[in-house]
Amino acid sequence: MNFRDSEFVKGMLIDEGFSLVNSAEGADVILFNSCSVRKHAEDRLISNIADLKGLKKRRPQLIIGLMGCTAQNHKEKMIDKLPMLDFVCGPGNEAQIPGLLEDILKNRCPIIAVDKVNEKRPELFPEYRDEKFKAFVSIGEGCNNFCSYCIVPYVRGTERSRKAADIIREVKGLAARGFKEVTLLGQNVNSYRGIGDRVKGKGFARLLEEIDKIKGIERIRFMTSHPKDASMELFKAIRDLEKVCEHLHLPMQSGSDRILKMMNRNYTANKYLKLAEDYRKFVPEGSITTDIIVGFPSESRKDFEDTLRIMKRVKFDSAFMFKYSPRPPAKSARLKDDVPQDEKEERLEALLRLQCDISLEKNEPIKGKILEILVDGSNEKFPKDVTGRTRTNKVTVFEADRSLIGKLVNVRIASITPHALKGRIV
Ligand code: SF4
Repeated sequence: MNFRDSEFVKGMLIDEGFSLVNSAEGADVILFNSCSVRKHAEDRLISNIADLKGLKKRRPQLIIGLMGCTAQNHKEKMIDKLPMLDFVCGPGNEAQIPGLLEDILKNRCPIIAVDKVNEKRPELFPEYRDEKFKAFVSIGEGCNNFCSYCIVPYVRGTERSRKAADIIREVKGLAARGFKEVTLLGQNVNSYRGIGDRVKGKGFARLLEEIDKIKGIERIRFMTSHPKDASMELFKAIRDLEKVCEHLHLPMQSGSDRILKMMNRNYTANKYLKLAEDYRKFVPEGSITTDIIVGFPSESRKDFEDTLRIMKRVKFDSAFMFKYSPRPPAKSARLKDDVPQDEKEERLEALLRLQCDISLEKNEPIKGKILEILVDGSNEKFPKDVTGRTRTNKVTVFEADRSLIGKLVNVRIASITPHALKGRIV
């Protein structure tokens, strides 16, 4: 979501006559886009902005701005903490950034723009994209779920779906420019309501059907799906629609019913297991990935072992795993963060080890298969190699010319690791 927001702002500024430069020294304006989902990201942001103190002193005309969730969460406190900042702008106000820059140039006075947290973003379409063949497309913003550890509903507001017609127009525009893959973005794509169908999960499946018809687009991905709203309609869409990739990211967060309840996730471990089984019935070759938090307040050894148990049963293809950190004003920040840091680390290590073994086991049967790969990059260390992704979103490395970046090729998989497949183009 932040990646797309950054493109949106870059696009607006390029349309206003700005251009991108590669270094802070060469810039007249430096913008930080911020994530506040974890404390670690916020700490790094603060230290990166503070590092610009000397540059701002040497060049007082330089404009430094902060956008994104941390801006929305801490508002003017960010300017108190980091006086080199000229403006702070929440996600809902990002369309105003060109105007903010003009005001700062005129008045040289710090600006706080955070009042549009619940507003729909205007349908502006700056052409700019960081990549030439795959693109993120937002289908909505905000979230109504208020998971107790999560700050998103406070900083991105409640859920607003973009109209299907606007999304389809954007994707058609991308297809006309040669884009092959789109990733539909929303905090919870399964509760998408922009296509007139209010039955649970149906709206998003209908949107997928419409996007599947767009000529030129070869792959459709989406994230993220909340388990409580994941539906059989979605699984059928993944099975039946030609361009929808066979990959489901379904954040589990914990395998303990007690912790899931405290997290306000609205499902049990068994319900999650059943969903994963249903998905596999519809899409047997599909991959499933997840997010897990360890060390949520009061998480006991038994709760943690429940998480390990469910992981062993579901057998995720891969997982993003994090140590819990309190994120005020999210509700769980009022609870005592009582799992000691070294215990959190130990649990995280155990999860990582287990997931590594499972990923290896899941990749083993892929050896010898020929898979379609969208080539998406190269490796500085191995200049003869390129990287790409399977439809199931597995990273694949193989020797090929960089001119294939952005193209679909077939690759026979020769060897595997937990995190990547290696092969030869056929
Ligand atoms: S579903 Fe929960 S974790 Fe995801 S953005 Fe909404 S509140 Fe946060």
